[in-house]
Amino acid sequence: MVKETIKPIFIISLDTELIFGVLHSLSHESTSLMKKDDKKVRGCIDGLLDLFEKHNIPATWAIVGHLFLEHCEKEDGIPHKDMPRFKEDWYSPDPCTNIKRDPLYYGKDIVKKIISNRIEHEIGYHSFSHVPFSECSREVAEAEIKMGIKLAKKFEITLKSFVFPWNKIGHVDVLKENGFKIYRDENLGRYDLSQSFLVRKFNGGMDKMIAPPAEPKWANGIWEMPASMLFCDPQVKFSVLPRAKIGLYLAIRSKKVFHIYLHPHDLLRYSSLRDDLDKFLAVVAKKRDEGDIEVMTMGKFAEVLNGESEEE
Ligand SMILES: [Zn+2]
Ligand SMILES: [Zn+2]
Repeated sequence: MVKETIKPIFIISLDTELIFGVLHSLSHESTSLMKKDDKKVRGCIDGLLDLFEKHNIPATWAIVGHLFLEHCEKEDGIPHKDMPRFKEDWYSPDPCTNIKRDPLYYGKDIVKKIISNRIEHEIGYHSFSHVPFSECSREVAEAEIKMGIKLAKKFEITLKSFVFPWNKIGHVDVLKENGFKIYRDENLGRYDLSQSFLVRKFNGGMDKMIAPPAEPKWANGIWEMPASMLFCDPQVKFSVLPRAKIGLYLAIRSKKVFHIYLHPHDLLRYSSLRDDLDKFLAVVAKKRDEGDIEVMTMGKFAEVLNGESEEE
């Protein structure tokens, strides 16, 4: 049963991956920043949790499955021997140690911290080893999904929401078959890390300066929920806050969804970002308190859309 009308909705999703988003591009700026002080990314996550508590806003933390682990070991000299490979050497950067030795590869403490927080956050999924679903085989996609379900169960978590690594969409039917209710679709806003430099440049036109409100689409058994914007713009930093505010107002006016996302480590790269997010969430909280918008996680939104939730 699908509900026809909904109130304007605000969603924030976080691609929570520590080093996994850049594991195969070790020259990436984020890699060196994280490696320089491996406590700092966790500091970003703590900072975000504080902001969400301050404004009473629940988020969807799309976690890379390897971070559910506290340690991992080689078997017959092979890391994750039971996992099919996207590429032959896919697991070669995996140190196969533990959270103490290599805290950027394991994140059990992070998952625990999020689920024990006062705010009812959602743990979503971002694949086990950050593989591009648009390029990997069905066998790899299935193994990645099933592994996450198994690991999340140990935390008594049922995964419902999926964020594709690099927003590269593929094997949606595998998500459906494994009980996922919703996934984040492409970014409608201007800046997207998955786009090539030229596409991003082309998209720099004024018409794309607006972060558009989004609408969920029913894809035969799962909801596609596009993102309105990446809450980070390395090219035009000052534009993030005004763009988000305009997008939020437009969503309220058109009774649609405003869905932003970012990576916790983006806060490491751009010092103004935390402050911008703080200011923006204050606006969201005010609008929510005035009854203009509802704030929910992706999973909760899927429940509402499916008529499974006792929302008013
Ligand atoms: Zn491992
Ligand atoms: Zn990612």
